[in-house]
Amino acid sequence: MSQRVESLTIVGGGTAGWMAAAALSKVFKRLKVTLVESDSIGTVGVGEATIPTLQFFNQLLGINERDFVRETQATFKLGIQFEGWRSPEQKYIHGFGETGKNYWAAGFHNFWRRGDELGLAESFGRYCREVQAAQADRFAIGPDSGLNYAYHLDATRYGQYLRKIAERNGVIREEGKVTRVDQCKDSGNILSVTLDNGKSVDGDLFIDCTGFAALLIEKTLQTGYEDWSHWLPCDRAIALQTELTGDPKPYTRAVAHKAGWRWEIPLQHRRGNGIVYSSEYLPDDEALNLLNHSVQGGLTSEPNKIRFVTGKRKLQWNKNCIALGLASGFLEPLESTSIHLIQQNILKLIKLFPDSVECALDRDEFNRRADAEYRQVLDFIVLHYRLTERSDSPFWRHCRTMSVPDSLAHRMEQFQETGRFFLEDGELFVDSWFQVMIGQGLIPKTYHAVVDEMPESELAAMLKQLSQSVQSHIAKLPSHAEFLKRYLSV
Ligand SMILES: Cc1cc2nc3c(=O)[nH]c(=O)nc-3n(C[C@H](O)[C@H](O)[C@H](O)COP(=O)(O)OP(=O)(O)OC[C@H]3O[C@@H](n4cnc5c(N)ncnc54)[C@H](O)[C@@H]3O)c2cc1C
Repeated sequence: MSQRVESLTIVGGGTAGWMAAAALSKVFKRLKVTLVESDSIGTVGVGEATIPTLQFFNQLLGINERDFVRETQATFKLGIQFEGWRSPEQKYIHGFGETGKNYWAAGFHNFWRRGDELGLAESFGRYCREVQAAQADRFAIGPDSGLNYAYHLDATRYGQYLRKIAERNGVIREEGKVTRVDQCKDSGNILSVTLDNGKSVDGDLFIDCTGFAALLIEKTLQTGYEDWSHWLPCDRAIALQTELTGDPKPYTRAVAHKAGWRWEIPLQHRRGNGIVYSSEYLPDDEALNLLNHSVQGGLTSEPNKIRFVTGKRKLQWNKNCIALGLASGFLEPLESTSIHLIQQNILKLIKLFPDSVECALDRDEFNRRADAEYRQVLDFIVLHYRLTERSDSPFWRHCRTMSVPDSLAHRMEQFQETGRFFLEDGELFVDSWFQVMIGQGLIPKTYHAVVDEMPESELAAMLKQLSQSVQSHIAKLPSHAEFLKRYLSV
């Protein structure tokens, strides 16, 4: 008879490990969940920007939002401001909301495209509440605010916050460094991990949350890695924290430089900064120099230097081991998707939670979906690089002409030639595609035929009304800093 899943061992206590521990212990109360982590190894110590889906994950855990914002020193995020991506001077915001309104059979971008041609339309972002609120530094939550938002947070504090929840749910924490992994001779399944203090922890299922070390999924099971660095040439990052100067803005800054980009993320108590770059085009010391010269406020941390290979494990679930977080792969944080991908794998695991350790069908389904999710994010991130018009450095000249995944090439061509755009089932980014494509100058050559059915005067009135309604809505909101102060004082 096949072995029932009664115990789960998570190795690694970073954001991934504690997210998994908190969620799985909440849903499967009969499961014995153990988490092993090593204080001496520590966590990666970065990961501050999120996307709106984190709200749903927190709701699943029954987390009180105000409590969470307080504990993680979070601020609110309406989108990402991309600076210097299309050309060194140009900037646009990818906001988390819808732009305009679809009419008849056609998406709003078709009406905007015709309005633009006739000189009737304002910039695409003028029709998106989140973009306008971000630009005006305004924010509010509540039924009247109508804003879709995410958070900037201290990921280490988030992990610790989830740890309290997980331990309350009965998760057992074992401190120690895993020095040995034992496998079943026949199946290859992992049987137990042994810590440097001699203690052995077994489990029916294992979750590898050991970060870039990928101790179980790769070092033990040798799952293999799909290297995507030919599509995303950046391979290094340096993170640095500074004091917060000025009020926190409700958006992330992603500022392009000559060989990559850098981020600025405001939290309540500090600012997270970092640089992502390609070591082929920028030496490490120059990258650090560039970062040091661009940060504002006094330094509050030493530079955290990180090397990575963009890509993902060939299987995210291999044998009886599921990889989460950095152990599962890495895509640079341009669209703040890593924590989201952790959450997605956890939710998939919950949906496909196997009755027994022998569960090839569940495993295959999980891997198929995880693979699609990773590739969708890959396409979206590559898009930002490929759409550059910059030719002021060898790095950007490379990006302008580099090959891209076929799926992305098809999407870009279809949008440019026809203005049409189709999503696969369950895709994460929807309106975001239009904002980034148009924001970076990929304007369709034509628009949907139905748009010509609308008289010009009606089109003008419609565009004016949409823009005015966004502006009058935003005008009623408090500043982000005012809102945050009020929100935290309750
Ligand atoms: C430069 C950079 C910027 C990023 N920015 C963002 C962002 O803005 N938004 C976002 O969503 N994500 C971001 N990420 C990704 C995000 O940081 C990670 O997805 C997230 O922190 C999860 O990390 P983790 O838990 O997988 O790994 P880690 O935090 O590295 O945790 C690994 C854990 O495994 C343990 N461990 C390792 N080896 C052993 C062993 N032998 N025995 C016992 N324990 C062991 C460690 O002690 C630790 O507890 C960024 C990543 C990088 C590199």
